[in-house]
Amino acid sequence: MKEELKPLLEIQAIDLQIRKLEQDIKVIPDRLNILTASCDTISKQIEEIEEELKEITAQKINIEDEIELENARLAKDQQKLNSLKTNRDYNTMLKEIDGIKTANAAREEELVQLMAKGEERQKECDELKNKVTQLKEEIRTENIVVQKESDELKKLLTDLTAQRDEIAKKAKKDLYTRYMFLRDKRAGIALAAISSKASCGGCHMNIPPQLYNELLRNEKIHYCPTCQRFIYIPVEPNNNSASQ
Ligand SMILES: [Zn+2]
Repeated sequence: MKEELKPLLEIQAIDLQIRKLEQDIKVIPDRLNILTASCDTISKQIEEIEEELKEITAQKINIEDEIELENARLAKDQQKLNSLKTNRDYNTMLKEIDGIKTANAAREEELVQLMAKGEERQKECDELKNKVTQLKEEIRTENIVVQKESDELKKLLTDLTAQRDEIAKKAKKDLYTRYMFLRDKRAGIALAAISSKASCGGCHMNIPPQLYNELLRNEKIHYCPTCQRFIYIPVEPNNNSASQ
C-alpha cells in the first residue's frame, strides 16, 4: 500500500466510528421520547375520565333533585288523598301517586347505575394515575441514564474528532479532498481493499489482472475502475471482500 494512503485509511477507520457514534447519539433520546409520549397519552385519558366523572356527578345531583321534588309532590298528594270526595277524584289521585312512585323508582335505578359507572371510572382513573406516577419515575431515572450516556458518547466523539484532525494534517491535500468526496458519495468507504481474488471490497467487482499486478508493484495510487474508490492490497492477503 502506498505510504500516502495510510493516513487516509486511518482517517476512514475513525470516520466510520464517528459515523456510528453520531447515529447512536441521535437515537439515545428515543427511549425517553417513547416514555414521555405514553405518559402524555395516559394524562390525556385521565383528563377525559375526570371530565366524564364531573358529568356523572352533575347528572347525579340533577336526578337527586328531581327525586326530592317528586317526593315532596308525593307527600302532598298523599295528604290530599283523604280529603277527596268522589271515587273518580280518588282514583285519579291514586294513579298520579303511582306514576310518581314508578318514575322515582326509575330515577333510583338510574342513580344506582350512575354510581356504579362513576365508581368504575374512578377506579380506572386511579389506576391510570398510578401508572403516570410510575412512568414519571421511570422518565426521571431514564433521563439521568440518557444524559450520562449522551455525555460519554459526545466526549468520545470529541476525542475521535481531535485524533482525526491530527492524522488529517499528515494527509496530502489533494488526496484528502478526494477522500472526502468519495467518503460522502460512497457510504463512508473511500478506500477499498482488493482481495486476493482481485475483487474490490467497495463495489465487489473484479479489477482487471493488469491493474492488480500494478497494485502489487505499489508504484502509484490506483482507483477502482467501477466505483472509483482508492484501492489497495492489504498487508494480510484478504480472501473475503471486506473493505480492509
Ligand atoms: Zn470498486
